[in-house]
Amino acid sequence: MDSLNEKNWHTLEAPQAVELLASDPDKGLEPQEAQRRLLRFGPNAIAPRKGKTPLRRFLLQFHQPLIYILLGAGFVTAALGEPVDSLVILGVVLINAVVGYLQEAKAAGALEALAKSMVTEATVLRSGTMQRLPAEALTPGDIVLLRSGDKVPADLRLLAARNLQADESALTGESLPVEKDTSPLPEATVLADRRNMAYASTLVTYGQATGIVVSTGLDTEIGRISHLVAQADDLATPLTRKIEAFSNFLLWAILALAALTFLAGVLRGEPAADMFMAAVALAVGAIPEGLPAAVTVILAIGVSRMAARGAIIRKLPAVETLGGATVICSDKTGTLTQNQMTVTALYAGREAYAVSGSGYDPQGRIEGGDLSSEALSETLLAGALCNDTRIDEAGGERTVVGDPTEAALLVAARKAGIDASEAALRLPRLDTLAFESQHQYMATLHGREGLEPVAYVKGAVEPVLARSATRLLADGAPAPLDAAAVHAQAERMASRGLRVLAMARKRLPPGSATVDHRDISSGLEFLGLQGMIDPPRPEALAAVSSFRAAGVRVKMITGDHALTAAAIGGKLGLGGRSCATPASCDVLTGARMAGMPDDELTAAAANTDIFARVDPDQKLRLVSALQRRGEVVAMTGDGVNDAPALRQADIGVAMGRGGTEAAKEASDMILTDDNFATIEAAVEEGRGVYDNLLKFIVWTLPTNLGEGLVILVAVLLGAALPILPVQILWINMTTAVVLGLTLAFEPKEPGLMERSPRRTDHPILDRQLVARIVLVGAILLLASFGFFQWELASSGSEAQARTVAVNVFVLVEAFYLFNSRSFTRSAFELGFWTNRWLLGGFVLMMVLQVLFTYLPFMNAMFHSAPVGGLSWIKAAFAGVAGYFAVEFEKRLRRG
Ligand code: ATP
Repeated sequence: MDSLNEKNWHTLEAPQAVELLASDPDKGLEPQEAQRRLLRFGPNAIAPRKGKTPLRRFLLQFHQPLIYILLGAGFVTAALGEPVDSLVILGVVLINAVVGYLQEAKAAGALEALAKSMVTEATVLRSGTMQRLPAEALTPGDIVLLRSGDKVPADLRLLAARNLQADESALTGESLPVEKDTSPLPEATVLADRRNMAYASTLVTYGQATGIVVSTGLDTEIGRISHLVAQADDLATPLTRKIEAFSNFLLWAILALAALTFLAGVLRGEPAADMFMAAVALAVGAIPEGLPAAVTVILAIGVSRMAARGAIIRKLPAVETLGGATVICSDKTGTLTQNQMTVTALYAGREAYAVSGSGYDPQGRIEGGDLSSEALSETLLAGALCNDTRIDEAGGERTVVGDPTEAALLVAARKAGIDASEAALRLPRLDTLAFESQHQYMATLHGREGLEPVAYVKGAVEPVLARSATRLLADGAPAPLDAAAVHAQAERMASRGLRVLAMARKRLPPGSATVDHRDISSGLEFLGLQGMIDPPRPEALAAVSSFRAAGVRVKMITGDHALTAAAIGGKLGLGGRSCATPASCDVLTGARMAGMPDDELTAAAANTDIFARVDPDQKLRLVSALQRRGEVVAMTGDGVNDAPALRQADIGVAMGRGGTEAAKEASDMILTDDNFATIEAAVEEGRGVYDNLLKFIVWTLPTNLGEGLVILVAVLLGAALPILPVQILWINMTTAVVLGLTLAFEPKEPGLMERSPRRTDHPILDRQLVARIVLVGAILLLASFGFFQWELASSGSEAQARTVAVNVFVLVEAFYLFNSRSFTRSAFELGFWTNRWLLGGFVLMMVLQVLFTYLPFMNAMFHSAPVGGLSWIKAAFAGVAGYFAVEFEKRLRRG
């Protein structure tokens, strides 16, 4: 125990490793001992990767082309002997960097906290019972059970392995899964070839195993190289990337225009210093300084709104992509249905039975046929023995530990007086072939001294019948199997929406202690069928119809039988009206998909809404087929084999409760409640977020356009500049934060889920929005230039005239903010009081503007000057006129 890390665990025999770690493979550690070791070795956790240092992240805020222009402008203004202006410009750059830094830190922190809240769990043996514990609680000597889909929680020496394969790419970079076994290896074996070890943070892709924890936390291989698997830290989204590209374009356009302004002025004989200030003003004005910070804030608000509704965003771009989803591919069991299984129908020994009772309550009876039938009791026994699930009862509450399908089988057996734990004592289990969705069955081997070993198999009807040769009759005698009759019976159950499982058995040669897929590949004795209901979730029904209104197609993809899928699909309103009865439903099965060329599948995938008996690999083909048609696809998944499809989908959605670690890691979003309706909520939030982003952009750009134009026009006409660089900065910074950001709190517009999905291949701004930006930009130009000249003529003071121009800008923007609350409706239609942040922002902005105008300190800094009351009325007039012009434009569009 002392020098754990120096041990070459891979060179030891498994029992030696157990002995060195003072553990017990059958019982695991005792809780007190585990606690003692935890204190000694510390929790099994690796501190998240450090990432960039705060200083570096702060400095990176200056690393933006538009900021270079501002920095350049600041330094040159200083060189020209305008220290106040220079300080203001550099001050703004600094404020911008601080705001950007804080926002980025906040968004990254929120994502990190969400990522941390998703604890990895492990199945651990402690004092003889299997428990699910957070991976952090593991300590050397713990005995851990691994199944496909698990993330290996610590470094393990494997004690027993069955067909175990692990994806070790996180550690070794090797992308193909590695096969594992338990034999000792030579000392020189490199990490990637240590087949008898399983390393922390790698993923089990197939099979099962037990292993003993040899090192935890920072002592694990991954901890030592402290290279944590990819954290969700990408803050770029398709929109931010488009904005970045736009900024780069803007940079050159602004530089060219500023140079033009400078040259035009100088050629007209104006002083070069003045013209330089004009060029600076133009550059400063045309840069939307507040845009990057606003985008991050709005996205971050979206992330927390979604989290509040049960959708955890792992990758920020998903917030935005969700709003544009056109197809949702969802699992059936547990997502569209309640995953509350109850066996209601049985078939054994050529007789059909009904089962009464509800849920996991063992009250209920089996009725309708010969109750002493051996086929019946063997069907129920098979269901109870070939089962890894337990139902815990505490205080009248029943909780399923394991799989609800298996829980239903336990309850059905109980109704006939068969208790699974008693049966397991009578027929101890020797070996298990775990359920894997690509095989669709599970098998267990039972036997003891003096008893012939018997394998019980349960699974989907097709694979079990395909392996069966005979059937058991009610009197216990075997008979040849009439597969067609059993299929007909299974179909009758499935078309009522029942999930049907078939049970079979096979005696293995005496002395057999293990069961393999080969042992049960033929010669099974069919015992009977159990059919269970799994009611659709009522909220899923509403969500499906809401998606339909939103122009988003819902497709159900399930491993279940075609008729079961069709019956449930019909109840949920999938597949149109024709799908009222299972027979009329259009269902595409995995078997048919397998024979289809890609182009045929592309057409079929678009026209079909129900996919049954689909294996996980086919999900990937389906996603790609839909994407080839230009669809934006959200796909749910829970198993390890779903990971490739989740990665391929535009939005991979993993189940928070029932999902494997592998699925979660591959996903963009996690549903905390595994509920389909949560996807709908997330799509709705996604649309709201995108709307608000767009509203901010459409609100902010006219200001930049107006400012750029007013400078350009003044220079071309040889007039005095109506606004100075520092004044432009004042306008841009204060209005973006005080006014613009309040749009982030804009409630979702009514009818958000009645629109068609946004086309992601279209530019951010359509023609209509560009026209609106130009309209408001033109109003700003006319009003500011006009009122500036008017004030200059009447007062003769440039400072006063400029103050009026600034007030015009601010007031027009403030009123335009109300227009910007909706692209189509007026603020009054939305309800005037529904965004109080916005009203507060409006009032605060007015106060700031009064200070800007009358406070001597502000006058000194911003070259402003007190103006008369009439000038305020003029500015307000411009604002109100602008408001009505935009409302008029909206009305014209609406027709
Ligand atoms: P979905 O993809 O909608 O969640 P599903 O959960 O039904 O569908 P799978 O888990 O792949 O899909 O199951 C496929 C089939 O395997 C089921 O229809 C059932 O017949 C069988 N099956 C499911 N669970 C078990 C189990 N624990 N043991 C044996 N067979 C099972």
